[in-house]
Amino acid sequence: MTHRPALSRSAVDRAAALRLDVGGLARAWREHGRLLVLDTDLRAAVDERPEGPGLVFLEPAGELADDAYFLGMDAEGNAYFARIDQNDTRMPRAGLREVGAHLDDRDTGLLVHAVALARWHLTHIHCPSCGGSTVPAQGGTLRVCPADASEHYPRTDPAVLVLVTDAEAKHVLLARAAGWADERFSCLAGFIEAGESAEQAVVREVAEEVGLTVDSLSYVSSQPWPFPSSLMLGFRAAVDYAQPSPEQGEIADARWYSRADVRAALAAKELLLPPEVSIARKLVDAWLNEE
Ligand SMILES: [Zn+2]
Repeated sequence: MTHRPALSRSAVDRAAALRLDVGGLARAWREHGRLLVLDTDLRAAVDERPEGPGLVFLEPAGELADDAYFLGMDAEGNAYFARIDQNDTRMPRAGLREVGAHLDDRDTGLLVHAVALARWHLTHIHCPSCGGSTVPAQGGTLRVCPADASEHYPRTDPAVLVLVTDAEAKHVLLARAAGWADERFSCLAGFIEAGESAEQAVVREVAEEVGLTVDSLSYVSSQPWPFPSSLMLGFRAAVDYAQPSPEQGEIADARWYSRADVRAALAAKELLLPPEVSIARKLVDAWLNEE
């Protein structure tokens, strides 16, 4: 078992130097290429094997084209590429949310990388400077504007996920966002704003969402979350064990739970935690398992 968040697993070297080697990349495609095809919903063909689901790759055909994005090399020398093809109808198919926690390390890393890159290429096709069409470059690592030679890199939006506890970490504060089902609770979360540090965002989000003051905080781990383009930074923050005041319109409810409270509520199906693939769940589970 790995202690890393589910979508932070990988077993493939991104081999960044090869992106700049046009001949080497074309040779890797021809001789060692394995192609991961995504449809426009970013779902891939998967195989159900006794040990769990696995991605199904294709042998590359023809010459390497701009729309095949290089993902990296594994220890056996396989070169992985991803491409979007809406005509790929192989079944069964699955998306990252469904299989991300169940694929092995190699396939998880490849699918996360492919989904994040493909989504960006699908939606960022114009130059922000001149409005002209951009083209992929360096194996899909970036896009370049032919008109003004400006370079554009995939966007990543950092967000903080915060497990709020009391000073001794005997209680955890879970919140239900407006619009969620009655039993669904999670950690606090929010995007990092322009010109803000991750730590500042933690303090601000806790104050905004539950009206409590962070006394201390620590970074735990991160996970890419390409739905559409987030990087989730997991934190723990300690506050006074005081009554929360949920943010009007955003937070429907916020409650303190002891470990026994969480276990009892889960058993009674009165509490629904975030899915296992999420870093929010990882933070709650880690705290639960401390005792
Ligand atoms: Zn331009």
